[in-house]
Amino acid sequence: MKFKTFLASASAIAVLASAPAAWADTVGIAMPTKSSARWISDGNSMVAQFEEAGYETDLQYAEDDIPNQLAQIENMITKGVDALVIAAIDGTTLSNALANAAASGIPVIAYDRLIRDSGDVDYYATFDNFKVGVQQATTLVEGLKERFPDVSPWNVELFGGSPDDNNAYFFYDGAMSVLQPLIDDGSIEVASGQMGMDTVGTLRWDGAVAQARMDNLLSAQYTDKQVHGVLSPYDGLSIGILSSLKGVGYGSGDQEMPIVTGQDAEVPSVKSILAGEQYSTIFKDTRELARVTVGMVDALLEGGEPEINDTETYDNGVKVVPSYLLEPLPVTAQNWEERLVDSGYYTMDQIQ
Ligand code: BGC
Repeated sequence: MKFKTFLASASAIAVLASAPAAWADTVGIAMPTKSSARWISDGNSMVAQFEEAGYETDLQYAEDDIPNQLAQIENMITKGVDALVIAAIDGTTLSNALANAAASGIPVIAYDRLIRDSGDVDYYATFDNFKVGVQQATTLVEGLKERFPDVSPWNVELFGGSPDDNNAYFFYDGAMSVLQPLIDDGSIEVASGQMGMDTVGTLRWDGAVAQARMDNLLSAQYTDKQVHGVLSPYDGLSIGILSSLKGVGYGSGDQEMPIVTGQDAEVPSVKSILAGEQYSTIFKDTRELARVTVGMVDALLEGGEPEINDTETYDNGVKVVPSYLLEPLPVTAQNWEERLVDSGYYTMDQIQ
């Protein structure tokens, strides 16, 4: 029973007066972890917007534990949710669960992260992930020019996201589309020689893992030279990388802080940008992603056509999943207020 169809029926109005809210369709929302603020905003925005559209929600977080997320999704299917929205921890582990969802006629939206190796993913709502990487590397190069104008080559180290997250490859490839030509012409040197997602990936996007790797890079490569830049794909990693850098004296005395990038515009990173430590982040407006997702679910359950703008980029190994890609926005000390506060995403109090 579709709640909105029911509402639209004039003869239903009288019944509705005494009808319980149980008529509403329920959307199961599986999020990866609460350890990063962005996923909390995603969950909150979706619950608010689904409820406003007349749906009930079952929102679950799995604390980055794959079996836990699988159990949550299986449980949602057993309880008979009407649609599933999933931001996968490991995008390759859900095929069996999604086959069960398909058998029960439950549509599935991959949220932000592509679900791989399954034909049972209906749509994908995300940001232009390649562009995120391009923007990260572009701000890195801008920062290098600004802070180290007379240095050649710039010493830069590279970090990647979690190898089980399809997005991590898009971020890395987007960034390398900007950095590789500068490595080739000698403007940038990666002193460790560590390149490629199989070498620089950071399992589960874990900041402590990134911090430990940065510690090792500094002691192995940078005892007698300076590091000028670090490509970091996510704020949680950036904070770990910055701790490591500060630990050996960068950012104090005459040791300038390297240019460190990020992603998600999380509050600690925005504060770090204002303090002159992290250089940039990427703002992905989770309210917009929720809006697109609610629109997709609504169209699927009400028999409409979900809004998409990409039918080529996201091949999950079984099918090209029709997608809607939102625009990411780079944030630096120059534009944070306009992008994050004027847009209503944060209040000034949260940042200062
Ligand atoms: C998301 C990023 C996020 C990362 C770590 C990725 O899949 O697209 O926004 O920084 O996961 O949570």
